[in-house]
Amino acid sequence: MAILKVARMGHPVLRARARAVDPAAITSPRFQQLIDDMFETMQEYQGVGLAAPQIHEGLRLFVAGFAPDDDDEDDDGGGGGQRGVPLLTVINPEITPIGDDVVEDWEGCLSIPDIRGRVPRARQILLRAYDRKGRRFELKAGGFTARVIQHETDHLDGVLFFDRMTSFETLTFLDEFGRYWTGDADSVKAE
Ligand SMILES: [Zn+2]
Repeated sequence: MAILKVARMGHPVLRARARAVDPAAITSPRFQQLIDDMFETMQEYQGVGLAAPQIHEGLRLFVAGFAPDDDDEDDDGGGGGQRGVPLLTVINPEITPIGDDVVEDWEGCLSIPDIRGRVPRARQILLRAYDRKGRRFELKAGGFTARVIQHETDHLDGVLFFDRMTSFETLTFLDEFGRYWTGDADSVKAE
């Protein structure tokens, strides 16, 4: 396995539309290695999600997931604190909002280091995609998991979370985020 270099905002790969993955190629050793390397990279940088363009691969693929804190049972995306996201490998995703509910919450991005901001997202979505075995799957997601899936899918279209903000007043550096907004500088992981 290998830890990959993460592209930072300003690199054109983050603004390009990624190309669809040939489902027949998903089970190839090279592609499986890429998925493993992306998980390792995401975990190394303590992210909750990582999209292929962020590691300079223009493919419609992302990985996500981390275990919640033991003492935090808030998994509905309503409050602060760290919330668990299931381990996911998502290829050629299509997302459809369920209902009209939009919620605003904090996001960070491994390609925009040490910045946080509040971003409106659909509260619930239906995800359709291929998994790492090349099988179609569907997942209904809400709260923080739905937010992460939307953030990562945006990366595949060259969209960064700044683009989704309706106001920049909440943009904050991580240090100030911990000092003035939450009291816990690590409470929102980057994606
Ligand atoms: Zn990101």
